[in-house]
Amino acid sequence: MSEHIKEFCGLFGIYGTPDAAKHTYYGLYALQHRGEEGAGIASTDGATIRDFRGMGQVGDVFTSDSFEVLAGHAAIGHVRYSTTGSNNITNVQPIVVQYSRGEIAVAHNGNLVNAQPMRSKLESRGSIFRTTTDSEIVLHLLAASCQADWLEALANSLNEIKGAFSLLFITPNEIVGVRDPNGFRPLMLGKLKDSYCFASETCAFDLIGAEVIREVAPGELISINQSGLTSRHYAPPVRHARCIFELIYFARADSVIFGEHVHLFRQRLGRQLVKEHGVDADIVVAVPHSATSAAIGYHRESGIPLEQGFIANNYMGRTFIQPIQGKRHEYVNIKLNAVPQVLKGRKVVVVDDSIVRGTTTAGKMRMLRKAGAKEIHLRISCPPHRYPCYYGIDFASCEELIANKVPPEKMAEFFEVDSIGYLSIEGMKACAECEPDGFCMACFDGKYPVHVTEGTGKWSLEMPHKPKVPAAAKH
Ligand code: SF4
Repeated sequence: MSEHIKEFCGLFGIYGTPDAAKHTYYGLYALQHRGEEGAGIASTDGATIRDFRGMGQVGDVFTSDSFEVLAGHAAIGHVRYSTTGSNNITNVQPIVVQYSRGEIAVAHNGNLVNAQPMRSKLESRGSIFRTTTDSEIVLHLLAASCQADWLEALANSLNEIKGAFSLLFITPNEIVGVRDPNGFRPLMLGKLKDSYCFASETCAFDLIGAEVIREVAPGELISINQSGLTSRHYAPPVRHARCIFELIYFARADSVIFGEHVHLFRQRLGRQLVKEHGVDADIVVAVPHSATSAAIGYHRESGIPLEQGFIANNYMGRTFIQPIQGKRHEYVNIKLNAVPQVLKGRKVVVVDDSIVRGTTTAGKMRMLRKAGAKEIHLRISCPPHRYPCYYGIDFASCEELIANKVPPEKMAEFFEVDSIGYLSIEGMKACAECEPDGFCMACFDGKYPVHVTEGTGKWSLEMPHKPKVPAAAKH
């Protein structure tokens, strides 16, 4: 996949170490793939919350001076891609506010599907919002609660929001991690010596030398303060709906989320592809880098040698500009190069992890052909994307998805390949070792686990006339 599909957000938090902000910085560095538009850290020294936020990647936002500002024993951090609200500094998280109980900051991964009515309701009662993110809504609900116990107030507030939310909160004397009852987005709990930490993915724990304890359970609220860790379930149990696309594409291959090791899960997808769409070929080639694990699986199951038919330009950042007008240099040519010495005269199985809009796939296939590939058999390690996501992934609309534009029998011709094979939904599910029925697969099957309020979308809290949710999004 090298389309403009965007990651969403990454979270890291730690309590009980003098270098809390520095550990958070490293944690965010490991989670950079989950959001490159902005990054921020909020920390506490036990008396007050300080924050430092900026646009861009983690390495560009923070300097050594930032850590003097952020000195303290606890911190939470966030890397952001905007799935709700504009890409600007106001919307970069954590969001820090003062309210009747004191200072608090929040960082959010996911998307609320009732954000618009909740915000309208709160505004009609006098709330003034600072950002255009859905994440701020939970702070206003908390502020409006009359509960004396703030964790009780938080639990009540969480029961009013719907959709996908993994959240971290920090107050002057504790941090709190929360997952929505369906468990759409990952959130892991770890330990570094005497400190507890939270992270979207375990690769963040690996970088700071923390051990993994377990995932925060769907519907669980964990608070950590000087008395230790306490856990409660704030919502009645519902069907789990972990985002299967995290495992297919978004998460880092060395992470463990949802009880699955991402690399091994993707290898099983590749093996399953052979069972469903095996073909006689000379070599297997991965589209770098996210399809590498699936290509290894295809190679191992089929016995067909794995080769490096594409080389990626690792220095191509998201800020690439087109200095020369026209299409002389296609985006895909700048990002990838095919290797004729590997491909010439060969029958090639090329494995990619997904096709969403299909904007770059044809270019990649042309590149293989130009490099001399005799036959090209495209294998996709997930089913066709037919529906948008409202739970935190910035996919295309229904109309833009290639699987809705080109009929299956014309797909190979469209991409100029000899054959194409997508993994089946059942085959994809069979690759999960932990709770195969506990996944959201709505972008593949249209079965949305949580009702989507009309008007939900990236710009729903900014534009007065919002695009409507397509009929397929409602159950
Ligand atoms: S719709 Fe797709 S991308 Fe969105 S949460 Fe569900 S599985 Fe993940």
